[in-house]
Amino acid sequence: MRSGMGKVAVGSAVVCAATACAVAALVVRHRMRSSSNWARAEAILRELEEKCSTPIDKLRQVADAMTVEMHAGLASEGGSKLKMLISYVDNLPSGDEKGLFYALDLGGTNFRVLRVQLGGKEGRVIKQEAVEVSIPPYLMVGSSHELFDFIAAELAKFVASEGEDYHLSTGRQRELGFTFSFPVRQTSIASGSLIKWTKGFSIDDMVGEDVVGELTKAMERQGLDMRVTALVNDTIGTLAGGRYYDNDVVIAVILGTGTNAAYVERAQAIPKWHGLLPKSGEMVINMEWGNFRSSHLSLTEYDQALDDDSLNPGEQIFEKIISGMYLGDIVRRVIWKMAEEAALFGETVPPKLREQFTIRTPVMSAMHHDTSPDLKVVGTKLKEIFGISSTSLKTRRMVVKICDIIARRGARLAAAGMVGILKKQGRDTPPSAGEKQRRVVAMDGGLYEHYTIFSKCLESTLSEMLGDVSESVVITHANDGSGIGAALLAASHSQYLGVEEES
Ligand code: ADP
Ligand code: MG
Repeated sequence: MRSGMGKVAVGSAVVCAATACAVAALVVRHRMRSSSNWARAEAILRELEEKCSTPIDKLRQVADAMTVEMHAGLASEGGSKLKMLISYVDNLPSGDEKGLFYALDLGGTNFRVLRVQLGGKEGRVIKQEAVEVSIPPYLMVGSSHELFDFIAAELAKFVASEGEDYHLSTGRQRELGFTFSFPVRQTSIASGSLIKWTKGFSIDDMVGEDVVGELTKAMERQGLDMRVTALVNDTIGTLAGGRYYDNDVVIAVILGTGTNAAYVERAQAIPKWHGLLPKSGEMVINMEWGNFRSSHLSLTEYDQALDDDSLNPGEQIFEKIISGMYLGDIVRRVIWKMAEEAALFGETVPPKLREQFTIRTPVMSAMHHDTSPDLKVVGTKLKEIFGISSTSLKTRRMVVKICDIIARRGARLAAAGMVGILKKQGRDTPPSAGEKQRRVVAMDGGLYEHYTIFSKCLESTLSEMLGDVSESVVITHANDGSGIGAALLAASHSQYLGVEEES
């Protein structure tokens, strides 16, 4: 008994010791694993940082490449990734525009309708009103008929809700400026066919069709008597709206869901339209710069994967690294890799990390701007979206660093693109005597407006690239300038031009 007990005692002691050893070994192994995991995560971060780096000489190469592509796109049809489309806008608003006009802005997740009562030089904008409607996602990938019926119905409702203080001259048809922010080949100021969809839209029966024709038919179906007198996109609208308020506006840039730029070009610098354009005068060019690409862009495996998974692989590469639709998803892809290869969130990878667009850019921006000492916002977002119950501060810091790398790369490349345009205009050097001292860029879009770190970085990069010249370059934030711009262009292309406005 005793010896037995002793044996038992000894045995259990041995078992205990063995368990203790095993536990210790487990702890050690776990520590080793987690420290090697962390080293792996840091290596992934370092590689990202390196691949995304945008030193000044690289940015200059990007700017130069932009200028070169602009020349090529203007020289011949299909001469460049940049379509450099003629907008048929050769006279920007003067301030004389008068009367009641409408605008419809389609090109992102929402569309807006707007009416404005213009009072000419003295009255300016007497009154304006706008309504924003979100587009049900199924309409973005359905048929053109359905999409345009939905829009025309909203437009009809908007017109029906008009107050007494808006005044349409008797006997006149309502006139609309249509801001349609997808690549369109224009055939006149008020007609053009869709080249392709971008930004998550995909409606096959629309490609190649006349955009204004589709809207006009839908308005007729809704019993709405309205005529489209200007077809523009958000960049052209922003340029026009910007010019109405500031005579020195020469470039417009959109940084929202997508990205694009437009600028004022000398008509004789557009070889592919020689003979069709007046030799003197100016023409607004819609660059469609979202489709820019260059070997100098700092592309990574994440960008490649994002492009492969997109609705338009191989296209809109610039847009895919700088615009609001995509920035958050690049971040998600990096975090996902760290979760898979470095167990960033422990042994299991949260399934939602594998799903596209689970980190939207506003979420990325909220995490990036988190100033709380323990990065509470980052923790909350990771919990809300991915169900990750707790994260270490170290991990949350890692997430912020990823946001920082991706946002800064985008902002710096966008700035380089803008320098490319200034170069093309000959405005990247100090203004000579007799030349305008200010060069104003009308900027719009939710990304620029709300993502402060992004916009600050863009501005400081411009200064870095332009040196002293940056003092004469001004960015104005044209908040929804595109809506008013389209209405102004509808006015300056009114069918009643020259007809005396009754008072
Ligand atoms: P759109 O480009 O669709 O016409 P906006 O110009 O309003 O519309 O831009 C909306 C886009 O701006 C969103 O898709 C998003 O990517 C970006 N955005 C909106 N809010 C924020 C935010 N707080 N932080 C960062 N990006 C934002
Ligand atoms: Mg917009």
